[in-house]
Amino acid sequence: MNEAAKKVFIKSYGCQMNVYDAERMADMLEGEAYKEVSSAEEADLIILNTCHIREKAAEKVYSEIGRLKQLKAKRQKEGKQTLLTVAGCVAQAEGAEILRRAPAVDIVVGPQSYHHLPDMLKSAASARKKPVDTDFPTIDKFAALPEPHEQKIQDRGPTAFLTIQEGCDKFCTFCVVPYTRGAEYSRPLKEVLKEADRLLENGVKEVTVLGQNVNAYHGEDEKGDTVSLADLLRTLAAKGTPRLRYTTSHPRDMDEDLINLHGELPVMMPYLHLPVQSGSDRILEAMNRQHKASHYYQIIEKVRKACPHIALSSDFIVGFPGETDQDFKDTMKLIENIDFAQSFSFKYSPRPGTPASSSTDQVPEELKSERLAQLQDLLEKQRLKFNQATVGQTVSVLVERRGKETGIMSGRSPYLQTVQIETSLSRIGDIIDVRIKRASANTLYGEDVTNTR
Ligand code: SF4
Repeated sequence: MNEAAKKVFIKSYGCQMNVYDAERMADMLEGEAYKEVSSAEEADLIILNTCHIREKAAEKVYSEIGRLKQLKAKRQKEGKQTLLTVAGCVAQAEGAEILRRAPAVDIVVGPQSYHHLPDMLKSAASARKKPVDTDFPTIDKFAALPEPHEQKIQDRGPTAFLTIQEGCDKFCTFCVVPYTRGAEYSRPLKEVLKEADRLLENGVKEVTVLGQNVNAYHGEDEKGDTVSLADLLRTLAAKGTPRLRYTTSHPRDMDEDLINLHGELPVMMPYLHLPVQSGSDRILEAMNRQHKASHYYQIIEKVRKACPHIALSSDFIVGFPGETDQDFKDTMKLIENIDFAQSFSFKYSPRPGTPASSSTDQVPEELKSERLAQLQDLLEKQRLKFNQATVGQTVSVLVERRGKETGIMSGRSPYLQTVQIETSLSRIGDIIDVRIKRASANTLYGEDVTNTR
């Protein structure tokens, strides 16, 4: 194979951490002479960067492999080799089982081992081995991955993710993350700041710091002192980052300093995603969330005191084993009381290996669907109300890319709303004033009024 002509296609599922990981894999593979392409058909290397959160996640990956197997066979007839890699959380959870069930797969690599991918590719391509690496190495994978390529940062646009923390020690009884991503790990401060500098030098205007438990971050500065998420955000603000966000947080780790930061730093976007999952103390305990609904209410009260106009977002699971009508009512009550700008909600579905999956008190599927529809209806109304409240107002929007129509660009408001803006292409990368003309539950529509004020 001509080294210069190798192409990689990465299909990423799930959370922002996977999006970040996919970018880092692409950066690393560029050093191995792989150019990233946007279709599997032309790729010499296909990476499925999988997610284990959704229902039947592993089955969906196997059916995707089935489709790619045909593509692989077709390319083989044309004399082209295709290496198929399964990465991400399904790779971690299934391990070598993937090779047994799907012989078309050449490499299985867990999220902690991406830096081993170049060696694994070599052995898969030449020695016809099928490497599997799902270890949780003690070395820092981030340090072993190359720095993001400058041109690539610029090509990816004015917003960027920056992973500062991985893994989780909380062990919620429904969740696979502690098993697929391992124990909580915080990247060293020095390394995080170096990556942030690189992003800012290359035109990034909005940095979202990421972690499975991002507010459990505890880096170390040069003096050996512990650095919290709030400390890190202050440092990023002092560097001149125009916009800052962080996700995903756990209520237990929302300390006063972080809460107050929302009122202290103008560059902190007025948006907080803080999953509560349920409004019932009984269910929160069964989920091992290690906090009560009252604790969540207290945090929200403090956050709103620090930043009265903040947009709130959460995650909800309905139909958790043992959930009664009363438990569900408590969740609905919490949503009514708090009033969310947007949220993510799912029916409980058992994840193999998690404690809740073996509960004998599973809620019937039909009831789960009924409750979810009710809950989503309420959340949708709140979201629409929040969006409509911006109509007639002027909001600052970071223009990210072309919109769906000619002459329309797409961007984000401080509250993470998608905004379709009447403005010129040259505005991409700018933070502009947009007068909102109308709003739907998903999108705001407005015009650039930056120069008319
Ligand atoms: S806090 Fe709970 S839901 Fe979040 S990653 Fe950890 S175990 Fe999963």
